Amino acid sequence: MNRLDYNLVVIGGGPAGLAAAYEAKEEGVEDILIIERDFELGGILQQCIHNGFGLHEFKEELTGPEYADRFIKMVVEKKIDVKLNTMVLEVTDDKRVYAVNKDDGMLEIQAQAVILAMGCRERTREAINIPGTRPAGVMTAGTAQRYVNMEGYLPGKEVVILGSGDIGLIMARRMHLEGAEVEAVLELLPYSGGLPRNIVQCLDDFEIPLKLSHTVVEIHGKERLEGITVAQVDDNLKPIKETEEYIKCDTLLLSVGLIPENELSEEAGVKLDNKTGGPLVNENRETNIPGIFACGNVLHVHDLVDYVTQESRIAGKSAAKYIIGNVDRRKEEINLTAGENVSYIVPQKLEIKDNERKRVDLYMRGSKPMEQVKVVISAGGEEIMSLKERHVEPAEMLVKPLPQNFIKDLADGSEVRVDIVREGEDDE
Ligand SMILES: Cc1cc2nc3c(=O)[nH]c(=O)nc-3n(C[C@H](O)[C@H](O)[C@H](O)COP(=O)(O)OP(=O)(O)OC[C@H]3O[C@@H](n4cnc5c(N)ncnc54)[C@H](O)[C@@H]3O)c2cc1C
Repeated sequence: MNRLDYNLVVIGGGPAGLAAAYEAKEEGVEDILIIERDFELGGILQQCIHNGFGLHEFKEELTGPEYADRFIKMVVEKKIDVKLNTMVLEVTDDKRVYAVNKDDGMLEIQAQAVILAMGCRERTREAINIPGTRPAGVMTAGTAQRYVNMEGYLPGKEVVILGSGDIGLIMARRMHLEGAEVEAVLELLPYSGGLPRNIVQCLDDFEIPLKLSHTVVEIHGKERLEGITVAQVDDNLKPIKETEEYIKCDTLLLSVGLIPENELSEEAGVKLDNKTGGPLVNENRETNIPGIFACGNVLHVHDLVDYVTQESRIAGKSAAKYIIGNVDRRKEEINLTAGENVSYIVPQKLEIKDNERKRVDLYMRGSKPMEQVKVVISAGGEEIMSLKERHVEPAEMLVKPLPQNFIKDLADGSEVRVDIVREGEDDE
């Protein structure tokens, strides 16, 4: 086995890993290694050839590969080591990383700090148990995205998409532009899981129907998909038999959720949040294991890559502080709780030191679409701040600051709670 030593090992060379590694280098860390299992850096962005990336970060509308390219160039300029085609198999709590590739064979790398940046994977047909036969032509929307945008294959000609998350919406437009007939996008819930701008630009602009409160109840076909039976669902999301209809199609694309890739994290003893599916972290994006950090989609699923970059900078900076030894002993612990109409908050807790009481941005999602609301932040049952929001969608991440002057006065052990309430409700 080959043995190596690095100050920092970053697992995953997507936008999260790239920004974290760059930031750590900027902060003075030498000997950084990025490990990526694919043949190139950039992560999932390399297959996202549509535009819409970088509006926050660069004030420009870039495609996914363009956005990735900017960070890849920065990492190359900083001479950060990269191992491609290398799969990380295990991480231990004492920060040993086991990986394998065909040139080095097995590698054991001892790191001082590790950043987890493995992204997420898509839920498949098996995860949602669609009944019927098992023909070719049923795949995740991301798989189809890779076939079309990177490998040059069109997976089918008559397409139905189940799930109206962003990847599903973007693939509806892509399949249409490539000449396929997109019969419909079906969504189980009464509202779409995608960003409003994607519904307009990917469905409305091409007259692709969106059928809310609908699902697939049977798959037909032996060798190849021949059609599907779809049905409307009731308020309990149960299919209504009388509404069943058959749609002829040769391809069913699934866009039914993303799962943070945390098998390595769990094996290392990293505690996960069952709401996000990612590690429980403090404001430095440090997990329960000192020196193991997490950022990007492995931490929680992001809708915009710009937020991935912001968050990964925090992880990179914090890992640098940990390595360089510039960290105080942890002082006060404050828990953050997702209250009414909030599905989760990241970070889940603050572990602030007296000399580091600075603004912390909270990343959160509303649990249902709501209009004219207030995001209410309270501590010890007392309202501290209330921020107006015209519109909240589960698909759109909200970023709200906890200002420095607020953090300054928080006592050890206190709980900060965030609720989303309709305007006027909390005044009654
Ligand atoms: C199919 C799909 C399509 C998407 N489309 C869009 C879009 O159009 N617009 C948008 O804003 N966002 C999109 N997203 C969201 C997008 O994932 C994030 O914006 C961003 O790419 C997340 O960055 P990341 O670095 O956390 O993850 P990723 O980009 O997924 O990068 C993670 C990297 O880690 C590597 N890795 C994982 N496990 C290991 C291991 N054990 N060893 C070595 N390497 C490993 C992976 O190969 C990958 O390169 C999409 C996500 C998916 C899954």
